[in-house]
Amino acid sequence: MDEPTFYRYLLWGSLVVAALIFPALFFITAPYGRHEAKSWGPTVDNRTGWLLMESPSVLVFFACFYVGGCPTDPASLAFLFLWQLHYVHRAYIFPFRIKSGPKRMPIAIAGAGFAFTSLNAYLNGRWLFGLAGPDRYAAAWLSDPRFFLGAAIFLAGFAINQQADWILLHLRKPGETGYKIPRGGFYRWVSCPNYFGEIIEWIGFAICTWSLPGLAFALWTIANLLPRALSHHRWYREKFPDYPTERKALVPGLL
Ligand code: NDP
Repeated sequence: MDEPTFYRYLLWGSLVVAALIFPALFFITAPYGRHEAKSWGPTVDNRTGWLLMESPSVLVFFACFYVGGCPTDPASLAFLFLWQLHYVHRAYIFPFRIKSGPKRMPIAIAGAGFAFTSLNAYLNGRWLFGLAGPDRYAAAWLSDPRFFLGAAIFLAGFAINQQADWILLHLRKPGETGYKIPRGGFYRWVSCPNYFGEIIEWIGFAICTWSLPGLAFALWTIANLLPRALSHHRWYREKFPDYPTERKALVPGLL
């Protein structure tokens, strides 16, 4: 089988799996963080889990850039910049900012995350720096409204995600491991602005690259984070009797 055929199978397969996983995640909440569960087998500490889950996004994407001949056209460099802006932080900075104490996550979750980020970085990186062909993102793409609108949406989502995570990560004083009601920023409107920002980012990336793998990633992110945001929201309301009633779960004013 040649690579383009193999690639097509993987891409469509990943879309089918996303469609199956989306409804399942309304019933099964991934057991890490506040939804930690003991029944998912052996565990690793949170920090190692995050490093393991997110490193392929940086490394595999960069490997695709390298295999693609390190293209220096502006669109390729812009895609590389946007992707790594998010993932260098997520893989190598975020894990050292979390204050979860002795919390652990199942190896099954870290392994599933590792498999997903490897596949996703391959699908996006290989497309952008190889399989799309040399003319797909030629110089004219930079003046296409899809490029700059998508990049602007990505950066807005990145800012929302960063601000939301910053607020969360500053709720605990050194040594604390419990939970508090987050306030300020987009928490005025929703319980999970970090997930909201993340979804906006990858919708922006899909528009910026106008590609099927970009769309698949945005759909995967929604399939994963929408049910989890609803779980977080329910959890906050059960745990805190004074939880702000006007706050939605994920999308301001809507959901
Ligand atoms: P959470 O919001 O569940 O937790 C983020 C961090 O903040 C954790 O360290 C958590 O501690 C802490 N925290 C959360 N809420 C509180 C609170 N009320 N009081 C005190 N501390 C709190 O996010 P995730 O861990 O699920 O995700 C982290 C980042 O990764 C997010 O930016 C998310 O968008 C991204 N992500 C992206 C995915 C994708 O599909 N693209 C998938 C999953 C995550 P603790 O661990 O103890 O709960």
